[in-house]
Amino acid sequence: MSMKVVEKIDDMKRLRQQLTEPVGFVPTMGYLHEGHLALIRWARTENPSLVVSLFVNPTQFDPQEDFSQYPRDPERDFGLLEKERADIVFMPSVDEMYPPRFNSWVEVGRLTERLEGASRPGHFRGVTTVVAKLFNIIQPTRAYFGQKDAQQVVVIKKMVAELNMNLEIVTVPTMREGDGLAMSSRNTYLNPEEREVATVLYQAISLAQKLWVRGETNAQVIRQQMLTLIRKEPLAAIDYISIADTETLDELDTVKSPALVSLAVKIGNTRLIDNVVLE
Ligand code: AMP
Repeated sequence: MSMKVVEKIDDMKRLRQQLTEPVGFVPTMGYLHEGHLALIRWARTENPSLVVSLFVNPTQFDPQEDFSQYPRDPERDFGLLEKERADIVFMPSVDEMYPPRFNSWVEVGRLTERLEGASRPGHFRGVTTVVAKLFNIIQPTRAYFGQKDAQQVVVIKKMVAELNMNLEIVTVPTMREGDGLAMSSRNTYLNPEEREVATVLYQAISLAQKLWVRGETNAQVIRQQMLTLIRKEPLAAIDYISIADTETLDELDTVKSPALVSLAVKIGNTRLIDNVVLE
């Protein structure tokens, strides 16, 4: 079967009926890089059918954020997806997903109030709403998410469990550039100088890992060392540094295994995130 590009929800639902089970699904906002391709390849090996969505979801950006500037290149994405042998690319318009007077929301409480949720109010409500819609439209057997967005994985798993959705969530490790920078569509915003400074996120999580391996269990000591490292970079502004329980995302005083070390840092005008699980 050659790859089909589908823009309408009804067409997607109809084509879904013709796919061989199980169906793997990778939701993305497009502008694909090796991080996305890792998810897509993982999904391809585990399922005879593969659906990938390309949709820059406006409801997960807040008004001051980069929705309109977010990079897009669907033609290039189609070429990459054809090579990966995707069966269906679902690329709805904003109007198709959010018709006038759209007003139904899926919200996961508490977990979404911390970390990314605290810095980006409404972000996760947008994510869970669009992901729930995509799950309903595509009805995948398995959906694939990157560990790069660690909190997103925790929130989606909680939504799937608590709303009794019939699919499995698979987490794929973070893909990095040669110098450790986590791959992200937003890396294209960085100028050459910022691109160099951006490795400080990876340096900070690597430092946390090193301290933990050496036996440091005082979370505040580790946070402080990460802070000191990042503060040496004048172009870097810390949004948060967190060492938290991997399930509740509650901040820890004493590091136990597993613990999620995560951070958000602005490099110039570009906000980047990264994380590592200590275990
Ligand atoms: P996005 O297009 O940024 O919404 O990302 C789509 C999916 O790709 C999400 O599940 C991300 O977590 C995942 N992803 C993005 N960057 C990476 C990366 N560097 N490594 C692994 N997964 C990633």
